[in-house]
Amino acid sequence: MKIDDLPIRDELRGQSPYGAPQLDVPVQLNTNENPYPLPEPLVARIAERVAEAARHLNRYPDRDAVELREALAAYLTRTTGFRRGREQVWAANGSNEILQQLLQTFGGPGRTALGFEPSYSMHALISRGTGTGWISGPRNDDFTIDLAAARAAIAEHRPNVVFICSPNNPTGTAVAADTVLALYEAAQAARPSLVVVDEAYVEFSHRPSLLSLLEGRPNLVVSRTMSKAFGAAGLRLGYLAADAAVVDAVQLVRLPYHLSAVTQATALACLEYTDTLLGYVQQLKGERDRVVDSLRELGLEVTDSDANFIQFGRFTDTRAVWQAILDRGVLVRDNGVPGWLRVTAGTPAENDAFLDAVRLVLPPSS
Ligand code: PMP
Repeated sequence: MKIDDLPIRDELRGQSPYGAPQLDVPVQLNTNENPYPLPEPLVARIAERVAEAARHLNRYPDRDAVELREALAAYLTRTTGFRRGREQVWAANGSNEILQQLLQTFGGPGRTALGFEPSYSMHALISRGTGTGWISGPRNDDFTIDLAAARAAIAEHRPNVVFICSPNNPTGTAVAADTVLALYEAAQAARPSLVVVDEAYVEFSHRPSLLSLLEGRPNLVVSRTMSKAFGAAGLRLGYLAADAAVVDAVQLVRLPYHLSAVTQATALACLEYTDTLLGYVQQLKGERDRVVDSLRELGLEVTDSDANFIQFGRFTDTRAVWQAILDRGVLVRDNGVPGWLRVTAGTPAENDAFLDAVRLVLPPSS
């Protein structure tokens, strides 16, 4: 029996599930994870908070995750200087679930979503999974957004949802606030539609968050995650900031009690350690910049990065270079962008191992 023999939805036929190869190699720099394990005092605090939650696991968790949303709102207010209250914040199991809830609410059958590719491929996959048609919008050759072409695409297709990923995965490119505003205006003039700014990597950016753009723009949403900056990919905690009406709207599709009491307790413990964890982010930003400089010194092309990963190239046989780096014990990512590979910034030792591997596989024209 094959999947396609089952009576599945037509649009799922022939599709493959999303996921990077999980290979057991010494240096894994392929999934944009934070290389630093949570510090021991935080691990102990999680154990304490989870033990307390465990005493009440006979009951459903707080369906509205009030304490957690309060803490997330306080984090946003403190780090961006733009005041958010818990009614303007919503949390779910990873920002992927946030994006899914948004598409279930604002997309769906007969509706479309548009993103500027190459970008985070889950935007297209979650769109398809929710029955939302996907439209691939353009980028410039340097991976910035081509504003004129982007406006034209929005005017032509009149999408119900527009994705702007900043910093963009897999290129690392941040989007200027002016560009986001122009795209928001274009999207409102065309329909109006929901504009989702995916800021999964924003804590690593040279630029400030786009959060303050939310003021007076009820159809704008910023999505965030604790998977990267908080070093908690295993926790599965994503969140959004938006007008309170957007938070009310996603209640129509969220599963009741979707965020377990264990998840809420763990996330709250991590938020207590924000300063320590943001300290690691500072180190990673320095390492990211060092790897960018080193790759450029080696004569490679590197896309300016505002994230915890770096797009580098260009290679005529990208797959062969990916394999050659892997043969030296370092796993990087081939996102299918012709000529380019992506590496996540790791610890100094991991980055040195990566740079050594790259030196051995040069010249880039291979
Ligand atoms: N957005 C972007 C741009 C990402 O790269 C990722 C993770 N790779 C996510 C969202 C999803 O992250 P999570 O579900 O772990 O919050």
